Amino acid sequence: MRVILLGPPGAGKGTQAVKIAKEFDIPHISTGDIFRQNLRDNTDLGKLAKEYMDKGLLVPDEVTNKIVEDRLEKDDCQKGFLLDGYPRNVTQAEELDRFLQQKGTYLDCVLNIEVEEDALIERITGRRVCPNCGATYHIKTSPPAVDNVCDKCGAQLIQRSDDKLESVVKRLEVYESQTKPLIEYYTKKNTLVNIDGNKSVEEVFEDIKKALGDRGK
Ligand code: ADP
Ligand code: ADP
Ligand code: ZN
Repeated sequence: MRVILLGPPGAGKGTQAVKIAKEFDIPHISTGDIFRQNLRDNTDLGKLAKEYMDKGLLVPDEVTNKIVEDRLEKDDCQKGFLLDGYPRNVTQAEELDRFLQQKGTYLDCVLNIEVEEDALIERITGRRVCPNCGATYHIKTSPPAVDNVCDKCGAQLIQRSDDKLESVVKRLEVYESQTKPLIEYYTKKNTLVNIDGNKSVEEVFEDIKKALGDRGK
């Protein structure tokens, strides 16, 4: 199963991705996570990505496409993959199409998670993440058992630097102008399924399983 998760920042892509990857036993590939991991490891890629991420802008396409293609070449992607946060503009989507076509493969489904804008801002500004294991929480809707401590590994939770209100507004603008056109792009290719992301995490996941089940495992 080869799946893309599309949706504005804060829609719940990462949250659902973890559940989908487990249920369907496919690798979860998040470009945002890859950039943040590089930042923690202090690599050149991490330093470059940070300049764009902090401003809420997209990392240049050549850089991002190469990272994704290198990752998709790995053996574990033979059985399928779940792309979270990629592609994020039409140039990336065209490059992914070209890459998959050259491999003789194709996408099974593009899940477009839709959430109202006010709720997005609530979700992003309340998001807290574990810098150690990557787990995601929300101060109101899914708080950890002990304030600010990761349930899974005990590390102190942090707020992503780009989750402060200033960057969030910019990221939502970038989504509108660059990422949203992908809805039309994939609708034309007949691979898009809209998912109502305003529901609870479990309800959204049930709808996703149904959509993916209908498209065949
Ligand atoms: P994305 O990867 O699309 O940016 P996340 O999965 O990180 O989004 O979710 C953003 C925030 O919203 C997180 O704090 C997460 O805990 C919370 N969240 C995710 N899904 C839901 C939901 N269905 N209802 C309420 N809060 C949610
Ligand atoms: P969210 O889902 O909350 O928007 P992500 O973790 O997906 O956050 O992305 C964080 C940042 O990483 C983006 O604002 C952007 O700077 C960079 N990024 C992630 N994916 C891509 C991509 N496909 N192309 C360019 N930049 C990206
Ligand atoms: Zn943790």
